[in-house]
Amino acid sequence: MLRITGGKVYDPAHGIDGVVKDLFVDDHGRFTSSVEGGRTIDATGMIVFPGGVDVHTHVAGGAINFARAMTPEDHRRTQAFIRTKTRRSGLGGMAPTTFATGYLYAGMGWTTVNEAAVPVLSARHTHEELADIPIVDKTSLTLMANNEIMLDQMEKGEFERAKQVVAWYLWAAKSYGIKAVNPGGVAAWKWGKDAKQLSSPIEGYSKLTPGVIITQLARICDELNLPHPMHLHCNNLGVPGNISTTLETLKHLEGQRAHIAHSQYHAYGGDGWETICSETVQLAEYFNSHPGITTDAGAVVFGNTITITADGPWQHLLYKLTGRKWGNLDVENETGCGIVPYTYRPSNLVNAVQWAAGLELLLLIRDPWQVFLSTDHPNGGCFWRYPEIIELLMCADVRKECLKAIPDRVKSKITLAEIDREYTLGEIAIAMSAGPARALGLARKGNLGIGSDADLVIYEEDTNIQKMFGHPRYVIKAGEVVIEDGDIREAPQGREYLVKPACDPGTDEFMRPLFEDCYTMSFENYPVELERIEHPEIRDCSEATGK
Ligand SMILES: [Zn+2]
Repeated sequence: MLRITGGKVYDPAHGIDGVVKDLFVDDHGRFTSSVEGGRTIDATGMIVFPGGVDVHTHVAGGAINFARAMTPEDHRRTQAFIRTKTRRSGLGGMAPTTFATGYLYAGMGWTTVNEAAVPVLSARHTHEELADIPIVDKTSLTLMANNEIMLDQMEKGEFERAKQVVAWYLWAAKSYGIKAVNPGGVAAWKWGKDAKQLSSPIEGYSKLTPGVIITQLARICDELNLPHPMHLHCNNLGVPGNISTTLETLKHLEGQRAHIAHSQYHAYGGDGWETICSETVQLAEYFNSHPGITTDAGAVVFGNTITITADGPWQHLLYKLTGRKWGNLDVENETGCGIVPYTYRPSNLVNAVQWAAGLELLLLIRDPWQVFLSTDHPNGGCFWRYPEIIELLMCADVRKECLKAIPDRVKSKITLAEIDREYTLGEIAIAMSAGPARALGLARKGNLGIGSDADLVIYEEDTNIQKMFGHPRYVIKAGEVVIEDGDIREAPQGREYLVKPACDPGTDEFMRPLFEDCYTMSFENYPVELERIEHPEIRDCSEATGK
């Protein structure tokens, strides 16, 4: 039991914006109306937020593991965690190891993370790594927009069958939702092609287009009653002029729920690398007039990182542009991924536009319930750099100072210098916690209401925003003090949230011959066993299906 007294509380989900209020936590790690006994934390003069929720990150599984292996040069220069009674050893850096990932997230006050790209074929490994990430709770999304068994059903016009196939894969992967990456483009990449036009048939198909995959998958997520809508990485990521693809994609989604991943990478004008410019004003206007759609920024911070994505064709292009190391993985007939280390430099025209565009979206989309803090870790920068972005959002002066390092020729290509908005603490609490929790459909996260999980972070108020958000005084996870005065006090194992959609019992027998035709693994060994998930919390989605 725990009592937190005297803190200035920010709980945007309940309209509480900096009110001094006491909080009480029961023996089950949830908020309650009062408790007798237990520890009291005097938070007088401090700021209390719900624990951070990362709506889009890459922390476990084949791709990030490949990134760790490809960057041994990063290991010696990074923060190392030495084993103690409460913690295991690990490395920070561009692609932190599993244990370090949990310590670093919790150390900044984040208590839930969404691993945004899991191939079903390697889901077992991903769950093993997720189980090794301490403290934080997790969700994971299954890669589904390039799965050939599903694409074949869509090509044939068998929507209902495609829906059953998706439901089957979701439960096979023990997943929380659907991620669509470059719909059709990753499948086409196996033949050295991409999918650049939403209305052109994809390589190997006569009718099926990226546009059809996008609308049908979004509908499938809704009809399966998934708590999180389709999580979409649009076609033409990173390419000059891709704003037209992004806006066309959004038109395909009109009237449906959707979450657009890392929209910074999809908001460019121009027709080449020399003419690239920010088109965030257009994209932000779309979000401002369509309140049902959410996004995460995919903001860029300057410095070293490593890029990892299922978008194989894009990674090959990035390798050609930079000449740096490149890794590519094919995941049989489901998806793939590419890995390229990268350095964002303020002196580089494209990087400067990207840096500005991420901040612009966060500042120009008016409703903080629609746009969330992310760097698409590790693609735009590592998650442990979030406090730097928070400072940039809260302080127009700091932005102006950073703009001085940007070459003059970039200034006409961005709008950041003209934006005066500064986030309030309440708006930061939405962008880092309440908003992403709502978008993920995690009702007990991102808020401090009675019955919700007692995941919270307590900061000492400081004019140095980076220091304040980078070094909370206390972090509490499910009612347990896990971080205190910069030390890891406890490292409990978090939970994993899964969905169980309704699935026609005949789907197994439909899948078996198709599966046996093309997979290397046997059908029986493919689904992840529920027993593999160490602390599962299963959401039964079967009731409201079949609209
Ligand atoms: Zn991503």
